Amino acid sequence: MASEGRNKVVVIGGGVAGSYVAKKLESHGSVTLIDPKEYFEIPWASLRGMVEPSFAERSLIQHEDCLTASRLIVSNAINITNTEVLLSDGRLVPYNYLIIATGHHDPVPKTRAERLVQYQAENEKIKAAQSILIVGGGPTGVELAGEIAVDFPRKKITLVHNGYRLLEFMGPKASKKALDWLKSKHVDVKLEQTVSLENVSEGSKVYTTSAGETIEADCHFLCTGKPLASSLLKGNFLKDSLDDHGRLIVDENLRVKGHKNIFAIGDITNLKFLTNSMECEWQEIKQGYFAKKQASVAAKNLQLLLAGGNESKMSTYKPSSTTVIVSLGRHDAVAQVHRLTTVIWLIPGLIKSKDLFVGKTRKELDLDSHIIH
Ligand SMILES: Cc1cc2nc3c(=O)[nH]c(=O)nc-3n(C[C@H](O)[C@H](O)[C@H](O)COP(=O)(O)OP(=O)(O)OC[C@H]3O[C@@H](n4cnc5c(N)ncnc54)[C@H](O)[C@@H]3O)c2cc1C
Repeated sequence: MASEGRNKVVVIGGGVAGSYVAKKLESHGSVTLIDPKEYFEIPWASLRGMVEPSFAERSLIQHEDCLTASRLIVSNAINITNTEVLLSDGRLVPYNYLIIATGHHDPVPKTRAERLVQYQAENEKIKAAQSILIVGGGPTGVELAGEIAVDFPRKKITLVHNGYRLLEFMGPKASKKALDWLKSKHVDVKLEQTVSLENVSEGSKVYTTSAGETIEADCHFLCTGKPLASSLLKGNFLKDSLDDHGRLIVDENLRVKGHKNIFAIGDITNLKFLTNSMECEWQEIKQGYFAKKQASVAAKNLQLLLAGGNESKMSTYKPSSTTVIVSLGRHDAVAQVHRLTTVIWLIPGLIKSKDLFVGKTRKELDLDSHIIH
């Protein structure tokens, strides 16, 4: 490892972006990763863990198993100055270079063992229920409905979504394919409705939708998306680098607007690109695929800066679109290729749905794709 000196790199967030960038940098500087949990979780495998808890054994990876030369601090960052990060336990962590990769706020247990117990409990909840309500028809709600419908075909599943179509981040053809597939599995999909969960007590089985319909369900899962983890950026010198949604504005080198030694990567960034016709600007889709690409570019740039290189030689990141795959149970999936609605079942199903890229992700982190630590 390079000597400390001016080379203290602090990464906030141990999700896809933060774990990948720390891995790529740990042999080039003194890297500290701050994350409230002791493990990295592969997010796109999380719903399979609910129907098959043992699946989570490979998708929950202790940070220390893949980050062998980094310092790990298990804590929440609550504020940032231009030289230090303040933690919720009062500690201050100094940095020369900072990488913000806080993604979405998703409070999960601190230890891997506790998270495995949580998967077990969710699985028991599914197994004990005859009828299940899923609230939210984005990728999480659709993928969860798919997982349950395939593994537990006798359960009565109702999915309620406030939009007029499922998977609004994809095109209408993909929405229709997903709807048709769910209907073929007897999932009752209610669009343009909401469900108030406020007056539903634990054990109550009756839910009322905004259209006045009642749904009987033994349990429910809320899949309405998570807020961005940007609260620590709002009350300090970084507030002017945030857009209206709380995303960090970055330049082409992935440095936060106005700050030469602070980078941001992953879902927390505001990365946009112009359509081919140059008529409108699109937000780059929030995908682990892009988080990893951004981690590579930020790591290259930091390696250059840590080695005393000229910043004019830094690599640039070009936001783009990509193939998006939403899995539908263990064999099928709906895919959209580069915003053109090419939708196919079997091939995307083969690519994603069987192993959910868990073996591939483990290999990328230099771990055995099968053996669990
Ligand atoms: C069900 C589902 C399926 C998906 N399927 C795919 C797919 O097939 N392909 C694909 O490419 N992408 C997929 N995605 C999207 C992908 O998971 C995200 O784009 C990716 O996780 C973003 O990575 P990130 O590191 O930016 O953020 P996150 O993964 O959200 O990680 C953020 C990390 O920051 C930590 N953190 C937050 N706040 C703080 C703080 N204050 N202090 C310290 N640490 C903090 C969190 O604990 C977390 O570890 C899927 C997502 C979900 C939920």
